[in-house]
Amino acid sequence: MRPIQMVDTKTQYLHIKEAVDQAIHEVLDSAAYINGKAVQEFSAALGSYLNVKHTIPCANGTDALQIAMMALGLQPGDEVITPSFTYIATTEVVALLKLTPVFVEVDPKTFCIDPESVRKAITPKTKAIVPVHLYGQAAPMEAILQIAKEHNLYVIEDNAQAIGCDYTFSDGTKKKTGTIGDIGATSFYPSKNLGAYGDGGAIFTNNDELAHKMKMIANHGQQKRYYHEVVGCNSRLDSIQAAILNIKLKRLDEYNAARRAVAAHYDRAFANNPKITTPYVAPYSTHVYHQYTLQLNGVNRDGLNEYLASKKIPSMIYYPVPGHKQDMFASFGLPKLDMQVTDQLTAAVISLPVHTEMDDEQLNYICTEVLNYVNQ
Ligand SMILES: *Cc1c(COP(=O)(O)O)cnc(C)c1O
Repeated sequence: MRPIQMVDTKTQYLHIKEAVDQAIHEVLDSAAYINGKAVQEFSAALGSYLNVKHTIPCANGTDALQIAMMALGLQPGDEVITPSFTYIATTEVVALLKLTPVFVEVDPKTFCIDPESVRKAITPKTKAIVPVHLYGQAAPMEAILQIAKEHNLYVIEDNAQAIGCDYTFSDGTKKKTGTIGDIGATSFYPSKNLGAYGDGGAIFTNNDELAHKMKMIANHGQQKRYYHEVVGCNSRLDSIQAAILNIKLKRLDEYNAARRAVAAHYDRAFANNPKITTPYVAPYSTHVYHQYTLQLNGVNRDGLNEYLASKKIPSMIYYPVPGHKQDMFASFGLPKLDMQVTDQLTAAVISLPVHTEMDDEQLNYICTEVLNYVNQ
């Protein structure tokens, strides 16, 4: 059996090696390492795939979130609502900009932000909500947009884990995640569903004014070279990464379908086991399985993690410590929060390998070993 990895970017690369190597060499030959043709082409192709008016490439997903928040003109002390159960980048940028992170609960079935919890957290200082499409499934955007409209709040989608995911509104309208709120942010970190061979990110919006601001902010606050209108930063996607991404974007739907097939295999193996809750897919969303995450009921989670490791099966805990319990916020004077769902999930979740290069032999072996431990 081929060794099992959490992600296997190497094998995936070997399938597209010729095209990728050629694209990299074209960039090298052009010597346009920054902002070259490949960057323009990739931005246009991604914008048309997502059906969004503006796509602004940048250096990574964390920058994408930061630039989005900078563009909203928020003031220190303004409150930004985010789920506690997410990757740290979402809240880190809030803190970095001296805004106040307000942590809310997630839905125990979808792992995504809970609209009722958002409603309860709103104060006169609230300015924005940052739903995260966690593990590859859309947050309940219709409810979030409704709350945002009632309270005049911005919505920034953290789409780092869900590129290619479709959201269906109750009237049947479909949109890609990342294009639903005021701004969407994504990451091209190598292990993401659309991963580069280095760092990368992008920001999306249909709002001309926000697009203009974000372009300037990502480029040292300038429109015209050496005339700096606002305080910005330096955040660029390089041409080599853009050229690689352009090739992989053409295969994104196929890659996401391969992840879905892996998830279906796991779902079948673990169906009806009272000790395992397989991922729930909400009716309004497709799932692109950035992660395949189980909830264990009455099973020693860390024990399973170690047992699988002893069988050469990697598994991960995303995320062992929720945002509201991170030491970095100790000096923020945040209220003590009672987050039962989040605390329960951080103790019960475990993510199994899911990527585009898994075969049935590997999947059968993983399923057998998970069940061996769980049913012992
Ligand atoms: C990966 C990720 C980010 C950050 O992306 P980077 O490119 O690593 O900066 C932000 N939010 C979530 C939910 C992520 O998974």
